[in-house]
Amino acid sequence: MDLRAPLGLGGDHYLTGVSVGPVEDGRVHDCAGCDGRVRRDRVHLSATVRSDAGDRTAVYHYCSDDCLRAWLAVAAD
Ligand SMILES: [Zn+2]
Repeated sequence: MDLRAPLGLGGDHYLTGVSVGPVEDGRVHDCAGCDGRVRRDRVHLSATVRSDAGDRTAVYHYCSDDCLRAWLAVAAD
């Protein structure tokens, strides 16, 4: 789901979308919010972050809602 308005995260970085679902690329990812892993067969949260510097987009994976919220509380503060 794309956000109606990108959320500034500091610098040139903006949160542009959040999605729920299995890992699309089928790989196991490290959770961006804790030391946990996001398994490919588990439903989880992903955040899409755009960087205006270099016009790049990155997707971060979170093992739980709490991890995403904690990451946002730090990043968007
Ligand atoms: Zn986590």
